Amino acid sequence: MSTKAIRIHAHGGPEVLRWDDVPTPEPGPGEALIHHEAIGLNYIDIYFRIGLYKIPHLPATLGMEGAGVVRAIGAGVTEVSIGDRVAYAGGPIGAYATERVIAADRLVKLPDSIDFATGAAMMLQGMTAQYLIRRTHRVQPGETILVHAAAGGVGLILCQWAKQIGAIVIGVVSTEEKAEIARAHGADHVVIGHANLAAEVKRLTDGAMVPVVYDSVGKDTFAPSLDSLAPLGLMVSYGNASGPVPPIDLSMLAAKGSLFLTRPTLATYTARREDLVAVANDLFDVVASGAVKIRVNQTFPLAEAAAAQEALEARRTTGSTVLIP
Ligand code: NDP
Repeated sequence: MSTKAIRIHAHGGPEVLRWDDVPTPEPGPGEALIHHEAIGLNYIDIYFRIGLYKIPHLPATLGMEGAGVVRAIGAGVTEVSIGDRVAYAGGPIGAYATERVIAADRLVKLPDSIDFATGAAMMLQGMTAQYLIRRTHRVQPGETILVHAAAGGVGLILCQWAKQIGAIVIGVVSTEEKAEIARAHGADHVVIGHANLAAEVKRLTDGAMVPVVYDSVGKDTFAPSLDSLAPLGLMVSYGNASGPVPPIDLSMLAAKGSLFLTRPTLATYTARREDLVAVANDLFDVVASGAVKIRVNQTFPLAEAAAAQEALEARRTTGSTVLIP
């Protein structure tokens, strides 16, 4: 029995993605075999492909997120049963495949009201938005927050969720078209480009600046993000779409007003199963209530994952993207 998978044999551009036949894996103790109905595309897939994030062995199957049906379980599995509709996000990589084996304690049952494509699109980006606005910084009603890549996967969810909490959202995007999309999903103000970001934030907040910046862009926006913070503000640097942030001089945080800085990961916030389940349930609730809509704006066959990654890297996507096996 074999499975189709998108694997890389070397790091590089989208051309290194190969549509390979691999043996169908068997679940060991504590593991489940999932038949994917949909797979989520995420920016982190690109970091692994280019080698920014390390992969222990090549060839390797990319992908961190999927939704599907449990086909088999190994000894001792209690979290799921054969036939369950499930979804997951997070490591280890291996989601770009028709079938995969994964630790059963990383799976959550997908509510019947959520279809597979939505489930695959929302887990990684949605659980990230959850911990960012509920735990990294607990967003308050009436507070003004700054969200980079506001029309992207995580960005659109952050805008809607923060709006539901009652915050005022300033989004940053690269084009007028993306600005429209961000506004339609809760951004009260949108800044196009980051050339005059701090000045724009100063104008929009009447000089107060913001208590928190959610920055997934990294290298290009780190400095203007810090400059947009109020004294004692929190810089949340959670991604590197433009490249990793170079080492910084800590005294910069003092000079700019006793700022706080964090570089969080979803893995830390969902390491314990009870946290994973709580984060996922919080996400399912806001999606089921309609407060947060998951926008699957691009769908590609899994075999065309290279085209999907190319579009994401070239900033041609908005909202979420799924791959269908
Ligand atoms: P997005 O859909 O947000 O796509 C990335 C967006 O980043 C682009 O659409 C683009 O929006 C913006 N961008 C700015 N500069 C660049 C650049 N030089 N090259 C490419 N894109 C750029 O992706 P995701 O929703 O999948 O992920 C968003 C970010 O969140 C990523 O950085 C990802 O790594 C991070 N992340 C972090 C997690 C964590 O726990 N730490 C977990 C999940 C995601 P625009 O054109 O409007 O500028």
